Amino acid sequence: MEYDFPITRTTHPRPRPEDESKLGFARYFTDHMFAMEWDEGIGWHDGRVVPNEPILIDPASCVLHYAQMAFEGMKAYRTPSGEIQLFRPDMNVKRLARTNERMCMPSIPGDLYIAAIKAVIKEDADWIPVSPGTALYIRPFIFGDEPSFSVLPAKHYRFLIILSPTGSYYAANDGGLSATRIYVQDEYIRAARGGTGYAKVGGNYGGGMRASKDAMLYDCKDVLWLDAAEHRFVEEIGTSNAFFRIGDEVITAPLDSGTILPGITRDSVIQILKSWGVKVSERRLDIADVLRASVDGSLKEIFASGTAAVISPIGTLNYKGTDYGVADGEVGELAQKLYDTLYGIQTGSVEDSFGWTYKLGIFR
Ligand SMILES: *Cc1c(COP(=O)(O)O)cnc(C)c1O
Repeated sequence: MEYDFPITRTTHPRPRPEDESKLGFARYFTDHMFAMEWDEGIGWHDGRVVPNEPILIDPASCVLHYAQMAFEGMKAYRTPSGEIQLFRPDMNVKRLARTNERMCMPSIPGDLYIAAIKAVIKEDADWIPVSPGTALYIRPFIFGDEPSFSVLPAKHYRFLIILSPTGSYYAANDGGLSATRIYVQDEYIRAARGGTGYAKVGGNYGGGMRASKDAMLYDCKDVLWLDAAEHRFVEEIGTSNAFFRIGDEVITAPLDSGTILPGITRDSVIQILKSWGVKVSERRLDIADVLRASVDGSLKEIFASGTAAVISPIGTLNYKGTDYGVADGEVGELAQKLYDTLYGIQTGSVEDSFGWTYKLGIFR
C-alpha cells in the first residue's frame, strides 16, 4: 500500500549540533516527527509529519499512571554513495507486534510502520551524521492515551517517531571502542518469568534505574543483570544483550525464559560469529563460572550488543565490591572485529552478504 502523509514544516528550526564527534546519545532531536492515532472502530488514522514540539496530554492519560506503552530503537545511516539505509527493519516490525500484543495495544502493519519512518527521515535527512561511530537514532513509540484510572487497555492510542543524531552509547572520545566497567547486580532484578522482559516497554526501564544509579557508586557505567529466581545466571547488560567468550566458546543467554530482550543486534552477532566458524551457544551461564574464568584466565572477552551500544566491550566486572578483570581489560579481538563488520554493513562500507540493509532513498 502507498502512503502519502501530509507534512507541516517547522517554522522554528532546532539548533544543530556543532561538532559531530560530541553528539552523545540522544541529546539532540531533529526538526520533525511522525504522529498518528488509533481509535476503536477506525484503526490507525491521520498519519502526518509535523514539527517536533511538546504534545498535549491529559493529566489522567493512562500511560502517565499505568505505563501502557511500547517503544522501538533503530538507526538510519548514510552510505558512502549517499543512500540512506535501515538495518533489518522487518525485525523491529515483528518485535513491536510482540510487544504490543503483550501490552494489549493495537499492532501497526509493517508497511505503514516503514512508510512512517521513511516520511519523517525524508524531511530531516540532512540531520543524519556521517562521522565515524555516528548514526541517526530512530525512536518509534506507542502509548495508551485515554483519560481513565481503570486498569484496562486504553481505547485511544498515539504513535510517534522522533529522531536523534547520535554517537555511540558508551562513547570513546574518538568515536572508537573503549572497554567499560560493569556492576554485577545481585539484589535488584530486571525481569522475571511471566513478566515483560522480552517486550520493549518503558516499565522495564523505570524499574531498572535504581540499579544503574547504584552501579555508578562503584564507578561502573551500567549493570549486568542476573536471573530473578536465583540471582545466578547472567542475563543482559543494561540496555543491551551480553556475550561472554570463555575459552573458544561465545555464550549468550537463551531467549526461552522470556526475560531476555530479543535484540536484533544479538541475532546479527550470532549469525556473523557462526559465519566465521566461531562456536556460539545460547545457554544459561552461571556468574560463578564467569568469575572463575576471570581468575583462571579463560575469560577472553565480554561485550554488550544493541542498536544504541552497537558492540561495547567490557573490561572489568565488579561483583560484591571486588573487581574481576576480563583478560587484559582492553578491547577484545572479537568485539573489535564484530564492531567493524556490523557497523561497516550498517553504514555501507562493508558488503552486506546477509541481505540485512534496507535502502530508503537519497533525499538530498
Ligand atoms: C533494545 C534492547 C536491547 C537491544 O536490542 P537491539 O534490537 O539489538 O537494539 C537489549 N536489551 C534491552 C533491555 C533492550 O531494551
